Amino acid sequence: MANVLLVEDDTTIRTALTRGLRDRGHAVSSSHTALDGLRLALAERPDLVVLDLGLPDLDGAEMLRMLRAVSRVPVIVATARDDEAEVVRLLDAGADDYVVKPFSAAQLDARVRAVLRRMAESRTDSSVSIGDLRLDLRSREATLDGTPLDLTPREFDMLYYLASRPGEVVTKRELLTEVWLVPYGGADKTVDVHLSWLRRKLGESAQNPRYLQTVRGVGVKLVEPS
Ligand code: CA
Repeated sequence: MANVLLVEDDTTIRTALTRGLRDRGHAVSSSHTALDGLRLALAERPDLVVLDLGLPDLDGAEMLRMLRAVSRVPVIVATARDDEAEVVRLLDAGADDYVVKPFSAAQLDARVRAVLRRMAESRTDSSVSIGDLRLDLRSREATLDGTPLDLTPREFDMLYYLASRPGEVVTKRELLTEVWLVPYGGADKTVDVHLSWLRRKLGESAQNPRYLQTVRGVGVKLVEPS
């Protein structure tokens, strides 16, 4: 199904996951260090990378940054503990999803398929426009009235998510789950802060909203300004 690169220093885990993923039809290559993983990611151009964060030579987050500088390959990070702040930081740094150890090959396979499905969907259905706002998912460009908006990756994802559901109230919980990929826990404040930055970039405020309308106690919706 997919060419998966597994970067994991624990031999037992690496062997079990390699076998489990192969049993499910994936081609798997693996490395036990970050630097060798980077080399393989560039040489073999895998469809997806599964990255353990506790590696002997480099911090996994550091490897993710190095990888992101040269490649947009989807990355699922494997963390040893469910440390929410760390997970949010990694997702902001460009990880596409995460799994918390211990996890099974079946669970990893489900995540792999979900991430690849999202990528495929984003390739086919890539642009949305509301009013003078236009977002292109493929090039990750956003413009307002023809002027490019300078958005961070997270701001872009959040705006794209809202713009794909015009007029629909989206809860902060849903944004944390779908944009931050934090399925439980997570702080509403994270969403509030990004929302306020986004508003500033769109030239509006909570007091004088245009596109981003807060629905008190429920969430936020993106509308075409009247
Ligand atoms: Ca490890």
